[in-house]
Amino acid sequence: MSDNWGFDTAAIHAGTAPDPATGARQVPIYQTTAYVFKDAAHAARLFGLQEVGYIYSRLTNPTVAALQARVAELEGGAGAVCCSSGHAAQIMALFPLMGPGRNIVASTRLYGGTITQFSQTIKRFGWGVKFVDLDDPQAVRAAVDDDTRAIFCESISNPGGYVTDIPAVARIADEVGLPLIVDNTLATPWLCKPIELGATLVVHSLTKYITGNGTVTGGVIVDSGRFDWSASGKFPSLSEPEPAYHGLKFHETFGALAYTFHGIAIGLRDLGMTMNPQAAHYTLMGIETLGLRMARHVENAQKVAEWLENDPRVTSVTYAGLASSPWNETARRVYPKGAGALFTFSIKGGYDAAVKLVDNLKLFSHVANLGDSRSLVIHSASTTHSQLTDEQKIAAGAGPDVVRLSIGIEDAADIIADLDQALAAATA
Ligand SMILES: *Cc1c(COP(=O)(O)O)cnc(C)c1O
Repeated sequence: MSDNWGFDTAAIHAGTAPDPATGARQVPIYQTTAYVFKDAAHAARLFGLQEVGYIYSRLTNPTVAALQARVAELEGGAGAVCCSSGHAAQIMALFPLMGPGRNIVASTRLYGGTITQFSQTIKRFGWGVKFVDLDDPQAVRAAVDDDTRAIFCESISNPGGYVTDIPAVARIADEVGLPLIVDNTLATPWLCKPIELGATLVVHSLTKYITGNGTVTGGVIVDSGRFDWSASGKFPSLSEPEPAYHGLKFHETFGALAYTFHGIAIGLRDLGMTMNPQAAHYTLMGIETLGLRMARHVENAQKVAEWLENDPRVTSVTYAGLASSPWNETARRVYPKGAGALFTFSIKGGYDAAVKLVDNLKLFSHVANLGDSRSLVIHSASTTHSQLTDEQKIAAGAGPDVVRLSIGIEDAADIIADLDQALAAATA
């Protein structure tokens, strides 16, 4: 691996060499469950973590390993662990840090599914969450208590496309001695590298832009390798003897790779949220063009947002790339290549007009997904947020008149023409 490679070179080459067995240039899909040990001593060394190698595909697989190495390189991390979905990545990321009675401090501006996972499901593990506005440093400091084990945010957040000032949040995390976990799904490492900005861990839903074609679900956790897991005594899974590995201490033994090894040797082994090699193959195909796609995504999103903002049938547009956005200064400073390609807008005529707009769009697909090469739309109030009261919907940025767009990489003129004809039909 070369440290000097540019982003697009690394997106194609990092983590892969021609296949040593056959010379195959593309990464083979190693469709195998198990790997033959050289002899009994070799098997014993692998099981004892004294030697790194392949045992069983719930833990490691060469196709998945190539993807892990590539994402780690693109994010500037020490190591990465892939898993079956973005939501699996979030549980896997928290697992080594948490325990009953522990909590995380998380941003109020998160993907809806993450809010549900954090506010409902993790409670059953005895884990808690405190949601705070991460733009308010005092609120973050006030929320952290002795049981807090991490701070969690999204770089660019769903659904509004609001942006987080990662350097500012990382300074607070340093101050209070906690790891900062950044969900970088909407930005991808092409728009933002959270580790360079001070994050400890990065998680992704690979399902979205990184695969980029709406074919598979996947997730990944990237570790910066920089957090001192032994300093505070708050992370015994990483600093104390592990009974399931004859008292081995992960941090002492593996140093900067402690968290990554723990993710495989304990996380994947016991939680089993494994990525399969077929999914890794699709994601490796997608990632090769990540830089080209993201450049077009943000160029199109900026054009569409500006066009919508100037249209009299539209009340407001949330895109942080617009000069009118309260997040525009942060966007320019922290995300200089663009503010992503997901945002919402409000249409005159309320709920009825919003639903009519969605029904009249032809190029856009009405789906619960984002980050596809295709332009996508969803009316949150009648779908993802339909259980909420009107007041709650408005607070979540999903009021009755709000439509969420995920801008694809088609020709911008075609995207705008489709919105124009659907707006005409919806507001007639
Ligand atoms: C989709 C998404 C997730 C969840 O990922 P899955 O792959 O669907 O499990 C998490 N965070 C963000 C920002 C997302 O967009």
